[in-house]
Order: sequence, then structure tokens, then C-alpha cells
Amino acid sequence: MNILIANDDGIYSPGLLALAEVASEFGNVKIVAPDVEQSSMGHAISAHTPLTYKRTAIEGFEAYRVNGTPADCVALGMFHWNQEADVVLSGINSGTNLGNSAWHSGTLAAAKQAVLFGCRGLAFSTPVTREEPDFSTIKPFVKKSLETLLPEKELSLININIPANAKGMRWARQSVRHYDGKVIPGKDPLGRQHFWFTVVPVEETEEGTDRRAVEDGYVSITPLSLDLTNHEELSRAKDRVKL
Ligand code: MN
Repeated sequence: MNILIANDDGIYSPGLLALAEVASEFGNVKIVAPDVEQSSMGHAISAHTPLTYKRTAIEGFEAYRVNGTPADCVALGMFHWNQEADVVLSGINSGTNLGNSAWHSGTLAAAKQAVLFGCRGLAFSTPVTREEPDFSTIKPFVKKSLETLLPEKELSLININIPANAKGMRWARQSVRHYDGKVIPGKDPLGRQHFWFTVVPVEETEEGTDRRAVEDGYVSITPLSLDLTNHEELSRAKDRVKL
């Protein structure tokens, strides 16, 4: 099995190395990742600037760094591998990708880009506190996730969040919560005004969601779809409004 690894934290992220180490037990691994951090870039692509990739020394792996976004990395990785990657693994992101994060996440964008190419994409994330995540407690659940999910070929796009010292794994739906969307003004050291866009969820965590699973100490496994159509509303609108 040919496994392409990407992320949005950049090629030197410890989470990327942890993912590559586990993945190498399942197949041939190549790493193609951004040269600098691209978190919260979502599914941006560099359509108006040229991309380059450079061989990068990551011990034990064939790795390349790209001057682009996570989606660019998957595109170049697939090209480099003559489209012969069987699965794209993205992460392990430092920071969860739960609920609405799916819209901002570069980690998930890499997995989504894989699916757009007709490949499978699995995204891995873990919570961060003030300290770096301890990937030694996370790696066993990466392995367990791959053992469980790689044979399930029907699942093309999967979002996986792994808390430290997880109690087990749970199927979960995406938690979509409203954000307060607060803009907080501040001052830089030279007295110039700047702003922070904070994204703090404002509703309670719902049962059965990815957020609840991780809050309860479980790995959340969420199959996602690229189809953004609201099928219920479409069907109701068709009945209500004749075009
Ligand atoms: Mn990130």
C-alpha cells in the first residue's frame, strides 16, 4: 500500500513524524508537507503562484517540503507518485479538528483533496494544551484507527480526533455549533491597533458528536462527505418553489 502523508502544521511538526512512523507499519510512506505552518488555511490552493518541492531530511523517510498549502501538497504528492497513492493521511494535527473546524482546517483539506483525486483521505488531530502533545500515548490509537478503518474502503473521507490516553473509540457525527465570532481589539508593542478573531463555541456539546466523544476521553471517528448539498431543504424547496 502506498501512503502519502501531509499536514498543515508544516514538515517539521512532531505530529507528522509520529503519523509517518505508525503508517510505515502499513505500507510505503512518502511525506509531502508545507515548508511553513499552514493551519486554518482551509482548502486554499495556490492557483496563481508556481509551486516547488524540495527533498527534506526526515529520518527514515522520503520527504519533500512544498511552498504551498496542504491541498497543494497532496496535489504535488499525487503527481510525484504518478497518482499511485492508495491513501492520504493528514496530521497528526496539534489541535483538535472538531465540529466547525472542518471548515477552517488545513489538516482536513489535505484529506478532502485526496478524495477529490479519487483517493481516500484520513485526517488525524489531537488536542493541545500549553505543552506539546505526548505522541507516545496517541500513536497506539493511530495504529488502531488504521487497522480498523483501512479495510473499510467504503469510507473515503474520515476525520479522527485522538485525545491523550484515550479510553476507546467512538463513531461520532460532526458537531456543528454556532460561534460567538467575537472580534477582540488589542494593541501591538508599538501601540498600533490589531484584532483577534476568536472562535469560541456558544452552545452545549451535543450527544453523539465528535466534540462529545473527545470531551469524554474517546477517539472520535467521523465519516465526512464532500457533498455540501442540504438534501432535505433541496427536496422541500423543489416542492415549494417551482422554477
Ligand atoms: Mn494545524
